[in-house]
Amino acid sequence: MNGRIFTPRSLLATAAVLLLCGVAAQSADLPPKLEIVGKNPALPTVAIISTGGTIAEKTDPKTGGAIPAVTGAELVAAVPGLDKIANVAIMSFSNIDSSQMSPEIWAKLSKVADEVLKKPEIKGLVVTHGTDTMEEGAYFLELTLNSEKPVVFTGAMNDASSPFPDGPGNMYNAVQQICLDNGNDWGVTVTLNCYVNAAREVRKTQTVNVQTFMSGEKGYLGYVLGDKLLKFNTRTKSPKLPVPDKLPKVLSVTMYSGDDGAFVRQAADSGVEGIVVQGVGSGNVNADMDKAVKYALSKGVVVVITTRVYYCAVEAFYGDQGGGKELQDNGCILAGNLQTDKARLLLLLGIAKYGKDLKSIKNLFSN
Ligand code: ASP
Repeated sequence: MNGRIFTPRSLLATAAVLLLCGVAAQSADLPPKLEIVGKNPALPTVAIISTGGTIAEKTDPKTGGAIPAVTGAELVAAVPGLDKIANVAIMSFSNIDSSQMSPEIWAKLSKVADEVLKKPEIKGLVVTHGTDTMEEGAYFLELTLNSEKPVVFTGAMNDASSPFPDGPGNMYNAVQQICLDNGNDWGVTVTLNCYVNAAREVRKTQTVNVQTFMSGEKGYLGYVLGDKLLKFNTRTKSPKLPVPDKLPKVLSVTMYSGDDGAFVRQAADSGVEGIVVQGVGSGNVNADMDKAVKYALSKGVVVVITTRVYYCAVEAFYGDQGGGKELQDNGCILAGNLQTDKARLLLLLGIAKYGKDLKSIKNLFSN
């Protein structure tokens, strides 16, 4: 789980990120820069920011466990035929397993990505990232990027030392998707195993299989088929929010059967500003959790309700204690069809922008 992380501008900024990530830097790697590979004037230039994940991991022969091992440049070098479709500009941002990612790191990544996308010669950006939290990283950038150029998150389920690595094919398709993008307005996508998913909808659904990312009821946006991009769908647009200098403390709690609400009470007492409570069914919690939620609300905590159910949305239907309607009537925000981890990111950025302005925060959850 160890690795390195870099920032674009200064040693100072790098030191701040290193502190946040708790990882060690090698001064020779600083500051990270865009390394251009290929200068064919007939081809578009696509930026690639590598952050780590299985796509950049190899199995350590000593322990038998996969660990961060491959740089951005090595990732690109392993993709046959990439030089025939694009010039690439590579930046090694970090090399960490995505279980170590955090909103602080995605905030930094978002700023770096916007800087890169500002360059007129860059057609779009591929971010390589671990798949475990890719849906969150992609959604964080969907919410915060200023640029409207295409951004594609990709990664791999099989590591770079596997006899059947899926990373090179995924990288090729991600670059190809950007080359073939002619105003799709798909925002940030997660594209693996040829399927293009919208950042807002995508979920990792399988722990080990290469066909793991799916988009639920909304469906895939498209499919990269060789040198063609099939288009199936449009995206549901997300609100745009600034990357805050300081992130508020927002957490999520999963309600379980028989839950006494203790975690929510403790969170409220610890001074968190927002809590996402993942309830059951159409957004319902038990009586003890309902009391704990009311306690949190009384302390000025913003409470958002999601569900553990995969399809459709939470709704204000049940009016008994802990029912979705009762929760909403008491001041909770219902997250619609947004899944818990993404609702947490939206709440975090929403509180950072609007503070305790409940009406404005509620509006963010309205689509
Ligand atoms: N453990 C990996 C990660 O960084 C899993 C992957 O990338 O597929 O999320």
